[in-house]
Amino acid sequence: MVLAEIIGSKQQSSGSPKRRILSGMRPTGRLHLGNYYGALCNWVKLQEHYRCYYFVADWHAITTEYEAPQAISGFIPEMIIDWLSAGLNPEKSTLFVQSAIPEHAELYLIFGMFTPVPWLERNPTFKDQIQELAHKDLATYGFLGYPVLQAADILMYKAEGVPVGVDQVPHVEMTREIARRFNHLYRPIFPEPEALLTEIPKLTGTDGRKMSKSYDNCIYLSDPPEVMARKVRQMTTDTQRPFRRDPGEPDRCLAFPFHRLNLPKERLTEIIQDCRAAALGCVDCKKLLAEALLENMAPLQERRRHFEAHPDEVRDILREGNKRAREQAKQTMAEVREAIGFNLEFQF
Ligand code: SF4
Repeated sequence: MVLAEIIGSKQQSSGSPKRRILSGMRPTGRLHLGNYYGALCNWVKLQEHYRCYYFVADWHAITTEYEAPQAISGFIPEMIIDWLSAGLNPEKSTLFVQSAIPEHAELYLIFGMFTPVPWLERNPTFKDQIQELAHKDLATYGFLGYPVLQAADILMYKAEGVPVGVDQVPHVEMTREIARRFNHLYRPIFPEPEALLTEIPKLTGTDGRKMSKSYDNCIYLSDPPEVMARKVRQMTTDTQRPFRRDPGEPDRCLAFPFHRLNLPKERLTEIIQDCRAAALGCVDCKKLLAEALLENMAPLQERRRHFEAHPDEVRDILREGNKRAREQAKQTMAEVREAIGFNLEFQF
């Protein structure tokens, strides 16, 4: 299901409260175009239709960065500026930092008490990530249990929807199972959230590999225009087109997914024809892409300049978001404690 369909099917009649959704990002570095087109663009659209909670998942970042967690907090202001520059509106979305809401840890602990270990061991992304990050020792309790922390993040705000790519659907399914188990064991207080499947474009880095800061092949949202343009010029295109005189194939071209995201349809049709007829060379074609990308990124860069010049504003936005999130978290935890009979206020 694509995003437009999700919005169409879930929108409510005016007057009814907006459904809640939650999503987060790990602060492990500057955000790049893969993050922007894969998640942030959708977040910005979703805030028009849902009550959105977006959080900086700094505790999740420790699951893989536990040997050097000191760098994590340094990435948080930069990430919030990336979000605001991309168009997240703090009037419409609650932006907060996970570790500023200690209730997440408490709910995680309670969920951990009744989540069967085989559920976690079955998690397909657990095995994939262990292989992908083979250079790190991830045989830890925290790494195995991160879907339980995700469940706590989602259910804390009683989110009914979680925007995810198809590979993240099993995590949402586990959250539903945890909600069901809690509701069955104690009291039905949690909704079972749905995965809001979003189309994630397949974008590669400038060298044709997965866009990743560890490969040093990213185009960052914070790159100045001249750096973005240079990186576009360096992009791998159709590897089966060694010479300008050879016909190319946009479907093989690793830069073309970026064309699709940045150029109007009519222009794309011309480019496809000209590429296949060898009437357009890759140097000129990437020049067109760079121009379109810079034009589309101009409003983001203008907002970035504003927020970089006003760090107090960014701090205030985050302070207010943390406050709003904490109010909701306190409310949920009061219900949870009462449901499990741990309401100490009444006992002492
Ligand atoms: S002309 Fe454009 S679409 Fe064709 S291979 Fe080169 S960069 Fe890709």
